[in-house]
Amino acid sequence: MALTRSEQMSRIRGRDTSPERLLRSALWQAGLRFRLQARTPSGRPDVVFARARVAIFIDGCFWHGCPEHYVRPRTRSDFWSAKLQENVGRDRRQTLQLEADGWRVCRIWEHQVFEALPEVVDTVRAALQDAEWNPPPSWRVVQVDALPGEGDMEQRWMEDLRSPMERRSVVAQRSTRKWKRPARQPQRGGS
Ligand SMILES: [Zn+2]
Repeated sequence: MALTRSEQMSRIRGRDTSPERLLRSALWQAGLRFRLQARTPSGRPDVVFARARVAIFIDGCFWHGCPEHYVRPRTRSDFWSAKLQENVGRDRRQTLQLEADGWRVCRIWEHQVFEALPEVVDTVRAALQDAEWNPPPSWRVVQVDALPGEGDMEQRWMEDLRSPMERRSVVAQRSTRKWKRPARQPQRGGS
C-alpha cells in the first residue's frame, strides 16, 4: 500500500530521535564513550568522539537519499528533487570538510540502526581503533525520473558522497519498501 506524502512525513517525524537513541545506547553498552552533538568545525554530528576525531551521522533514509528506501514523491517532483540534492550537497560538504580537517566520518543509514545494529557498532569501533580504516562508499539517490509507460518504472540516479563525479543509475519499479521495525511493546487497553 502506498503511503500519502503526509503519512510518510508524520512517520518520519514521529521516529525522529529513535534511531539516534538506539545507536547511542548500543555504543554505550559496547563501552564506547562519546559526546552528544558536540560542535565540530563543520556542524553537529549525531555522535562525536572528540579526542579520536570520529564523527557519526545518522542519515534518514528519505531525506538523505538512501538507495534502498528513498521513495519518489508522486507530485511536485522538481521541488523534491531540489530538496534531495540540497540535502546530499550539505552531507557532502560536511563530510569532506571534516575529513580535510583530519576527522573520520561515519555516515550511517537510519535503516542500518534498525536492521544491523551490531554491524553499525563494529563500524564505529573500527573507525575509532583501526589505524587502516577507510570509510565505506556512501551512495545516495540524487534524482529519480518517472519513466513513461506501464508499470510505474523509474530511473534512479545515485552519487557517491565522496566522489560526486561518479554517477550511476538503475531502472527499477517505484518502491515504497520499508525496513524492518523493531517489535513494539503491546499497549494495554485502558479499562
Ligand atoms: Zn534505508
